[in-house]
Amino acid sequence: MVKICCIGAGYVGGPTMAVIALKCPKIEVAVVDISVSRIAAWNGDQLPIYEPGLEDVVTQCRGRNLFFSTDIEKHVAEADIVFVSVNTPTKTQGLGAGKAADLTYWESAARMIANVSNSNKIVVEKSTVPVKTAEAIEKILTHNSREIKYQILSNPEFLAEGTAIQDLFNPDRVLIGGRETPEGQKAIQALKDVYAHWVPEDRIITTNLWSAELSKLAANAFLAQRISSVNAMSALCEATGADVTQVSHAIGKDTRIGPRFLNSSVGFGGSCFQKDILNLVYICECNGLTEVANYWKQVIKVNDYQKNRFVNRIVSSMFNTVSGKKIAILGFAFKKDTGDTRETPAIDVCKGLLGDKAKLSIYDPQVTEDQIQRDLSMKKFDWDHPIHLQPMSPPASKQVSVVWDAYQAAKDAHGVCILTEWDEFKTLDYQKIFDNMRKPAYIFDGRNILDVEKLREIGFIVYSIGKPLDP
Ligand code: NAD
Repeated sequence: MVKICCIGAGYVGGPTMAVIALKCPKIEVAVVDISVSRIAAWNGDQLPIYEPGLEDVVTQCRGRNLFFSTDIEKHVAEADIVFVSVNTPTKTQGLGAGKAADLTYWESAARMIANVSNSNKIVVEKSTVPVKTAEAIEKILTHNSREIKYQILSNPEFLAEGTAIQDLFNPDRVLIGGRETPEGQKAIQALKDVYAHWVPEDRIITTNLWSAELSKLAANAFLAQRISSVNAMSALCEATGADVTQVSHAIGKDTRIGPRFLNSSVGFGGSCFQKDILNLVYICECNGLTEVANYWKQVIKVNDYQKNRFVNRIVSSMFNTVSGKKIAILGFAFKKDTGDTRETPAIDVCKGLLGDKAKLSIYDPQVTEDQIQRDLSMKKFDWDHPIHLQPMSPPASKQVSVVWDAYQAAKDAHGVCILTEWDEFKTLDYQKIFDNMRKPAYIFDGRNILDVEKLREIGFIVYSIGKPLDP
């Protein structure tokens, strides 16, 4: 029986391994992590992450051929294939701070593999890493133990949070990069054999190691660039009377452009887009490609601009101050169908409003009060001028209350902001919300999910990104 071990039981390691276990009943899959509480949650009733369909997959295989454990060394030693899916955040200090990927978690995982292995292994980069990382990993592995043979593969993950299980069941492609040697090709084939249990052959792409590593950074940069492009267009729409939804529809009909990922919003978030672009920028700079680095930097700058623009629009609409005004924040996660708040635009928007002394009443169906208070108490990481993350002085938390219902959030509020596109926000009783708000009642739709005309008929003053302003 082939044995797989995955180091890192996070948003990627957990779901990807659960799907491999489901689709390959004859493969034993162990997911290991240094976090005792995370592993306990994977083994309990309340999984550590919210992802539609995940619970069903986990309960079908857990205890059968899927195991979650903190006994990292044992499972790594026994495995034929070791995936490494640890976090690779942006460095906050030292060389490359604010841009380069922090590979300390990866390095310690690689050293541990080298220390405990007593059989040949395929080591798979599942985390997103800078191009050429495999070279450094090979050095760690081979310098520590010369008798044992390792093959490094790059198999970046393209799942999107919120649709992870669907994406894993039916991926657009699976990318596997490896060495062009016979051993490298054999390792690629072994990993292909795993995916071939459910992924059609023509969707499994094989490349050299560096192409696979770079393709993941490139894919995230392209996706984020698309959002920044449409968001840049949204500002121009507001200035000219065009409607960004109509523009997106019109340009998306061009088959060279395509209709997906063209929704204008308050900005992109999540743990990956910004960090991976910064990583790309750093790699470009290290290779002397300043103009290319500047091009990608602009994608993040436009994203920051969009968040600031949204805050400024709220404040300027409400007589140029939100001081002492209650504002309901509907949605805090970086997108719908996840409880993940890493780099969510809600953090910057809320901080902008708190900076002008607003009182916030926040509701999100999947985000806890602890997450929100913690996120709002951290200083913003300034990638242009990196500094350590430090807690902000506590008073901000007094301006924030977290509630468990959208109606409660909006009661007596001067304004409502939609910051996450949760489906339930589309079908709220907006008449009831209007009746219980201060007047004039404002709605700021940061996701363009509401029917502007209907809201105006009710009596709201509406700002929806990239749409013509109130007549
Ligand atoms: P995560 O923070 O949710 O999970 C990483 C896990 O690794 C944590 O539970 C941590 O405790 C564990 N870990 C760290 N060092 C360890 C060690 N030495 N031994 C054992 N466990 C260790 O991160 P994530 O969101 O799952 O992302 C993992 C990687 O996948 C990152 O490189 C990310 O860029 C990439 N990725 C993420 C997504 C996404 O949507 N989240 C999508 C594609 C790729």
